[in-house]
Amino acid sequence: MSTSSLTEIAANLILNANHVTAFTGAGISVESGIPPFRGKDGLWNKYDPGFLDISYFLHHPEDSWKLIKEIFYDYFGKANPNGAHHALAEMEAKGYIKAIITQNIDNLHQMAGSKEVYEYHGSSKQLVCLNCSKIYSADEIDMTKLPPLCKECKGLLKPDFIFFGEAIPEPANSKSFHEAEIADVFLIIGSTGEVAPASGIPYIAKERGAKIIEVNIEPSSYTNSITDVFLNGKAVSIMEKLYKNVIAINEI
Ligand code: NAD
Repeated sequence: MSTSSLTEIAANLILNANHVTAFTGAGISVESGIPPFRGKDGLWNKYDPGFLDISYFLHHPEDSWKLIKEIFYDYFGKANPNGAHHALAEMEAKGYIKAIITQNIDNLHQMAGSKEVYEYHGSSKQLVCLNCSKIYSADEIDMTKLPPLCKECKGLLKPDFIFFGEAIPEPANSKSFHEAEIADVFLIIGSTGEVAPASGIPYIAKERGAKIIEVNIEPSSYTNSITDVFLNGKAVSIMEKLYKNVIAINEI
């Protein structure tokens, strides 16, 4: 079937649903200039992910922070939301989708205007003091001297996203599972489905009867297992087309 017929089928599913939840992975932000971790152009081909191991971070905060600053603040920090983030925000504002569960830590959904966003892995936009738990906006912290320290207690600051070896934050964890349980359409965008436990969330939605729409440039571990409608292509063009279809069909 052609992509345009599949997009129309997906748009009809969205229009006839009571509760549409989106689930986004690194792929949605690639066209904003942020590479994924895995795959050919992935970050882990360039960097050893060990600097994001919590025990390494606690023992070598300065070394770890040098890479954290370079990657997540100097480089990712300059990214802006793309058409796919904007399409999701418009769809939420018009009531077509209810919430976004994101594995991303880049804040681009919020920058695009999305309101109901559950950040399953936390966010790079905040730093937390590991001693007194005070939260800072990343913008207010001077990163010329590393590692950055708490202004109140001089404790070590850490980006408020999860490192390897850390638990999923609450309430994002329980809210995400709840969304999967109540969704009747679940829209997966740009995720390999290889990062547990996040990867299990779409399976819960499927078990509870949701139709699964998936957007990806290539098949993922979901495509041949739970996906009902696979929209093959880049997130920006597919999501812009999907949104236009939803509007057009709704006006008929
Ligand atoms: P992943 O890196 O494992 O996979 C990315 C997926 O996106 C792949 O399936 C790939 O085919 C697809 N993709 C690539 N370009 C695309 C495009 N233009 N349009 C649509 N799809 C595209 O991503 P993941 O499954 O989200 O897992 C990686 C983990 O790493 C995430 O959980 C996240 O926490 C973190 N991460 C976050 C960011 C970010 O915040 N932007 C970036 C990299 C990694």
